[in-house]
Amino acid sequence: MELTDEQAAVRDVVREFAREEIRPTALEADQRQEFPEDVWDGLAELDLTSLTVPEAYGGYDADPVTAAVVNEEVAYGALAVATALSVHSLATSCIAEFGSEDLKERWLPDMAEGRPVGAFALSEPHAGSNPAEMSTEARREGDEYVINGEKQWITNGKRAGVYVLFAKTDRDDPSTVTQFLVPGDVDGLSVGEKEDKLGLRASDTTSLTFDDVRIPAENRLTEEGRGLSAAFHILTGGRIAIAAQSVGLAQCAMDEALEYSEEREQFDQPIGEFQSIRHKLAEMATRIKASRLLTREAARERASGSAGLTASMAKYFASETAMHVTNEAVQIHGGYGYVTEGEVERLYRDAKITEIYEGTTEVQKKVIARHLLE
Ligand SMILES: Cc1cc2nc3c(=O)[nH]c(=O)nc-3n(C[C@H](O)[C@H](O)[C@H](O)COP(=O)(O)OP(=O)(O)OC[C@H]3O[C@@H](n4cnc5c(N)ncnc54)[C@H](O)[C@@H]3O)c2cc1C
Repeated sequence: MELTDEQAAVRDVVREFAREEIRPTALEADQRQEFPEDVWDGLAELDLTSLTVPEAYGGYDADPVTAAVVNEEVAYGALAVATALSVHSLATSCIAEFGSEDLKERWLPDMAEGRPVGAFALSEPHAGSNPAEMSTEARREGDEYVINGEKQWITNGKRAGVYVLFAKTDRDDPSTVTQFLVPGDVDGLSVGEKEDKLGLRASDTTSLTFDDVRIPAENRLTEEGRGLSAAFHILTGGRIAIAAQSVGLAQCAMDEALEYSEEREQFDQPIGEFQSIRHKLAEMATRIKASRLLTREAARERASGSAGLTASMAKYFASETAMHVTNEAVQIHGGYGYVTEGEVERLYRDAKITEIYEGTTEVQKKVIARHLLE
């Protein structure tokens, strides 16, 4: 699918930044488990932290295809950075789409410039694939809501200065999930330690504990009971972002594998001369191209209205592609693929999360089948 001249120009700028400024920091950030804040500031300078902020609030307000292209290119540099950016964008999308004029004016211009960083707090220890089972409660008391409960696996947990929170206004009533904006400095909010993860180690993933946190009623983003439908609507865009990131990560592994196939020699010839290696490369390239096309089609549909089915197909297919391609890239590198000094070992570890967050593969297939059978 052809990009417009403007989309191609954005791709080229982000590609250069991702390859020259993000990728060289990725291995050390992974090993130290530290988010590269300088890189974040660079993304902000390129206006990418304002991707889903309307122009009226100082944002770039990118169309969905441009947003997918940006996600792909940033993930080529480092999935941890792309994940942080897409979660920040989920938060700005929620505020832009559901917030009052006051909330938009108060938060969006600063978030567009990169800080405060945003987070999206839906999952809980006992409610992942089925968020309707959440138990965090925001009980109305006069002109405030009082929040109690725990969130789990929150990306940007420590870095964030503002949280988009989903909570029930009545813990015993599943139909009362509502969306709120919680500033990071409220009393009673504590952020857990960073999870020690298989991959995506530079991204901070934490729990959040709310202990009688009070926020003004004006910080409610949706009507009471409209939180889950709002979350699913926003997560359709999120799934396209993760699909695009899977493509970018897979492309990075592909490029590493191609280069290695040409330079590594065994039996007096480059390993790229062996048919088994050539077939691997052919299959990897084909799956990446198919994933990219499906992802861009989902983004194109999103631009013109609904994209639920194609977004789930793209997320499912592209994340499996990322796993397949990184697995083959490690295999092509032999023992050198298995050690941390090379890049494909990290890419292989990072790829796994794309099959889990923002709806597991099993959940995407459930959504796809529901569309087919309705
Ligand atoms: C690194 C990381 C970052 C994350 N970032 C965020 C974030 O920023 N914000 C946030 O809110 N959440 C975040 N998450 C949470 C993530 O979205 C959940 O982990 C995911 O939705 C799965 O939920 P779960 O872990 O509770 O697994 P479960 O829902 O318990 O699923 C366990 C297994 O059962 C399967 N399963 C569940 N239900 C069904 C079904 N109906 N049919 C078939 N199979 C099913 C699943 O596919 C999975 O294989 C993050 C998670 C990780 C690991």
